[in-house]
Amino acid sequence: MNQLYFTEEHQSFRQSFKEFLDKEVKPHINKWEAEGKIDRFIWEKFGEMGYFGLNAPEAYGGLELDLFYTVIFLEELQKINSSGFAAAMWAHTYLAMTHLIKEGDEQIKKEYLTASIEGKKIGCLCISEPFGGSDVAGMRTTAIKKGDSYILNGSKTFITNGVYADYMIVAAKTQPELGNKGMSIFVIDSSTKGISTTKLDKLGWKASDTAEIAFDNVVVPSKNIMGDEGKGFSYIMQHFALERLVMSINAHARAEYALEYAMQYASEREAFGKPINKFQALRHNIAEMASEIEVCKNYNYTVAKQLNEGTYVVKEATMSKLVSTKMADKVIYDCLQLLGGYGYMEDYPLARLFRDSRLGPIGGGTSEILKEIIAKIIIDNKDYKPAV
Ligand SMILES: Cc1cc2nc3c(=O)[nH]c(=O)nc-3n(C[C@H](O)[C@H](O)[C@H](O)COP(=O)(O)OP(=O)(O)OC[C@H]3O[C@@H](n4cnc5c(N)ncnc54)[C@H](O)[C@@H]3O)c2cc1C
Repeated sequence: MNQLYFTEEHQSFRQSFKEFLDKEVKPHINKWEAEGKIDRFIWEKFGEMGYFGLNAPEAYGGLELDLFYTVIFLEELQKINSSGFAAAMWAHTYLAMTHLIKEGDEQIKKEYLTASIEGKKIGCLCISEPFGGSDVAGMRTTAIKKGDSYILNGSKTFITNGVYADYMIVAAKTQPELGNKGMSIFVIDSSTKGISTTKLDKLGWKASDTAEIAFDNVVVPSKNIMGDEGKGFSYIMQHFALERLVMSINAHARAEYALEYAMQYASEREAFGKPINKFQALRHNIAEMASEIEVCKNYNYTVAKQLNEGTYVVKEATMSKLVSTKMADKVIYDCLQLLGGYGYMEDYPLARLFRDSRLGPIGGGTSEILKEIIAKIIIDNKDYKPAV
């Protein structure tokens, strides 16, 4: 399958990125997991290596590479076993920066995109609110025009990188009476007066910071609006395809990592006088897990190829996230079981994987919401169209 999607250049990128992670990231992961904070130097190192600019325009310092470099970036990040660290990196690159690339004007790109690619500015994407994340159209945060500014009021929650980010991409209603047609997107410096953040404690993704953010009469200059006023909802929906594919790729990669580890363990661990990988019950389970991972991985690569070619893959990315995240949860649950008591111990990788994986079917659209979308497409023939 590798030859279908990955060239020799892709493979050498994978090798060099792996070596970079081994040398620069892995030695710090346990500390960052314990502290819930990633040291700033690694952001700049990622920037120096060009990893934040894989799919960004060359004009702003990016590399404009095809999407399979991103696939490799995501897969290898999962295989260092800290979904929290991985999330901090991909939320910056594929959530916040996607809006800068697609909707930012020249001035915004110069000010924020170049610094983001260099790892000098960290971004976050603020959509979910304490009153509800699934119902994006029902958001309550407002940005009401006053002179040459917008006055932002409201709150966001569960925002990845929200505490330590330098800027926030914020969705708010500029004309609340128009519902989702009155929503716009802004880029805002985190240090702006009236913004306060609270760090949240959570089950997994320990290395990444997750914030609740309050906006109290924050003055946002009109030049900080991204794209057209009133089109925010369409932009968010459009970028969900990439976000969901990112989470699908993460899912198959962490499941693959879990299974590789569990298979190695099963070849060494003995019970009743033989390696446990000789017991048929475990062998069949391993065979089933390997098959499910392979099928998801292959489908995710196909969707990545379609997206890379410019196809609007809303149905496909939704399906791949629904199935891949469920598959990863099940595989990781079963791999932990395969390690017996050691699976439950923090000294072994399955405990962290188990916690981290649970977010897959929740973040970026819960499985229930994904099923709603798929049902509308396949039963009601709803045709989701790209915003631009
Ligand atoms: C660690 C973490 C990081 C995150 N990072 C970000 C981020 O960077 N930026 C951001 O904007 N958001 C982020 N999120 C938020 C995430 O996207 C939301 O949690 C998710 O969309 C669900 O929203 P909610 O938590 O408000 O659940 P709710 O919308 O309150 O849903 C609660 C339950 O009801 C179900 N439900 C809701 N509506 C329906 C329906 N119509 N039919 C059937 N079931 C339904 C849901 O599936 C869920 O099971 C993050 C969340 C976490 C936990």
